[in-house]
Amino acid sequence: MSGPVAPPSRASMHEVSVPTTDLVELVLRYARDRILSDDTPLDKPIPPVDLARLAGRSIDEHGIGADRALARFEHVLAPACITTDHPQYLSFIPTAPTKAAVAFDLVVSASALYGGSWLEGAGAVYAENEVLSWLAAEFGLPSGAGGVFVQGGTLGNLSALVAAREHARGAVARDGAEMPQRWKVVCSAEAHSAPGEDGVLRGAAVRSALDEHGASVFAVVATAGSTNFGIVDDLASIAALTDEFDVWFHVDGAYGLAGMLSPAARHRFSGVERADSVIVDPHKWLFAPFDACALIYRDPESGRRAHTQHAEYLDTLTETSEWSPSDYAAHLTRRARGLPLWFSLATHGAAAYREAIGASIRLAQDIAREIERRDGFSLVREPQLSVVVFEREGWTKADYARWSARLLDEQHAFVTPSSHAGRPNTRFAIVNPKTSLEQLTAILDTMA
Ligand SMILES: *Cc1c(COP(=O)(O)O)cnc(C)c1O
Repeated sequence: MSGPVAPPSRASMHEVSVPTTDLVELVLRYARDRILSDDTPLDKPIPPVDLARLAGRSIDEHGIGADRALARFEHVLAPACITTDHPQYLSFIPTAPTKAAVAFDLVVSASALYGGSWLEGAGAVYAENEVLSWLAAEFGLPSGAGGVFVQGGTLGNLSALVAAREHARGAVARDGAEMPQRWKVVCSAEAHSAPGEDGVLRGAAVRSALDEHGASVFAVVATAGSTNFGIVDDLASIAALTDEFDVWFHVDGAYGLAGMLSPAARHRFSGVERADSVIVDPHKWLFAPFDACALIYRDPESGRRAHTQHAEYLDTLTETSEWSPSDYAAHLTRRARGLPLWFSLATHGAAAYREAIGASIRLAQDIAREIERRDGFSLVREPQLSVVVFEREGWTKADYARWSARLLDEQHAFVTPSSHAGRPNTRFAIVNPKTSLEQLTAILDTMA
């Protein structure tokens, strides 16, 4: 390619021409280099005033051209974004997409797939459903189970709960009983974050909540891998109650349910096979790019009844029995965001996934033993999956904050302060197969 890329004129920005071809090649080369890069720095955010000074304005009436726009992204904007798939990104829940999944994400965009309906995207929907069925079988759900890939765990949980409430309303209406003034959900205080005792929700606690709140409870939500600690609730004892109380059982496995694919952790999830709905985020521990959550219903009809949108212009879609993903969650237009996972799973096979997930679990155990061995360090809890929470004895919240900022400033690692029951701590959330024990021990060394 020679010379700068001229901005295509308004009339020609959709044409296949020399300028648009050059532009596509420029962008694909950048994407290719980033996907295949082994040394993308961690990078870090910069203050708004600095960013405004460095990036300025990109948008005017005439366009600045692809060369300049891409250069601005490469040299100013991208370095102001933390590299979430960096092996030393250990905060929150990181992401670690496979090369196959990221590369195929480009194909999903290039192909202008519409993932909302069978009419428009049958092939894409078929492939996404193959992944959902495979996951459902791994979780022990019956063969009719199915659902949809949505944007993230938040929307997945919300959509499942809307279906659960609709289900409860239907039951109350059929019985001719009185609708509760306010519907309620029973869940652990650890559901997404927050302190608790040992953090595990058990059947006994759920039973007393159900006894107390009775018919106004439309769902019990258990967590299969809490975000803060990776704790799995006692799913079997909770599942055992949901028949007796005839209440919907939802399992939030956004981060942790992927752990069930590894023989090292499979036993922890016993009881999930009785769930009415589950979620798991491929962008967390299933090595897919942002953003994707697999939402699976035991009886997909209950999702469809709650979520199908009706409008005259949609009748062609809603008056058929074909499987339209839009019908199973709070959305209409959708990207076929399950396809990167489909392609990567098809390419590598499930065993590679089991092995990669198992490696995170083993590494969490190894670094937990190292933390116990070291003077001045203590584990806050024994890790169940791949999150390791620990304290540097005597450190205040400010100590953790200073240390964390320095690690990022020095581009060594991204490890943020956390806390539990009012005590400051920090945590390693491990999902990246490229994270090593040496890297983690080197981070501990910086806390000496
Ligand atoms: C991450 C997480 C969520 C939220 O999922 P998003 O994809 O970030 O919307 C919900 N529940 C749990 C347990 C999580 O770990």
